Amino acid sequence: MGSVGAKEVPELLNAEGRRIDGRRLDELRPISIKIAPLTRADGSAFVEWGENKVMAAVYGPREVHPRHLMETDKAIVQCRYNMAAFSVDERKRPGLDRRSQEISKVITEAFESVIFTEEFPKTSIDIYIEVLQANAGTRCAGLVAASLALADAGIPMADLVPAVAVGKVAGRIALDLKKEEDNFGEADLPMALVPQSGRLVLLQMEGHLNRGELREALDLGVTGCREIYRKMREALRARYEAAGGAEEAEAAA
Ligand code: ADP
Repeated sequence: MGSVGAKEVPELLNAEGRRIDGRRLDELRPISIKIAPLTRADGSAFVEWGENKVMAAVYGPREVHPRHLMETDKAIVQCRYNMAAFSVDERKRPGLDRRSQEISKVITEAFESVIFTEEFPKTSIDIYIEVLQANAGTRCAGLVAASLALADAGIPMADLVPAVAVGKVAGRIALDLKKEEDNFGEADLPMALVPQSGRLVLLQMEGHLNRGELREALDLGVTGCREIYRKMREALRARYEAAGGAEEAEAAA
């Protein structure tokens, strides 16, 4: 451990090139996905990603509330990202703070660009993201969970939207930062990809990267998103195979 002022800084990268949790620079944290854990919502998904635990629920297309937000030629997308008071070490003040508003806005914009909103004029597609446990990268985990919940709700969209944060840790570009790396690293760059078109629908950056590092970070992030995309598709496939099997068994009985 080194120290900056009074703060103890953990060793973020060891001599073998391993990170604080033993990962290589290009390695994701473990991800597990549960599709449709909720029965009240039209679609839902629960994502455990490292120490993050995120639930997403989708309703719609349904009536617009408040009504003045209604658009005559398309559906509106409304997303609310919320971090539970018990999701972090120090109790977070409950409710919508500026950070939650910002994250809700960028996630809404990402989904507006992939959902076929023109198919459902005068309606609303409502996305709720609840972070139950946070360990950096929650906006990306939220996007992944919401994307799966939208698919589960049968909302037509161009593609799923995998997302991941890339950053700079101990001078090196690293995939999928955890909390200590986010806190003590030099940069944090969350991104979301539409895999079929290769288009980025969310890209934010905190900290400093030079041009070469930014290129490397984008390449690593896109590769990470493609890996997450495979896991998302696998989870959906497994869910519908299981549901199909249950229906067949019911029909045969
Ligand atoms: P993201 O979760 O998308 O990486 P940030 O970079 O803003 O978003 O936050 C990084 C991490 O910092 C969060 O995942 C969470 O673990 C922690 N954090 C964020 N806001 C708070 C807060 N108000 N109180 C305590 N911890 C927080």
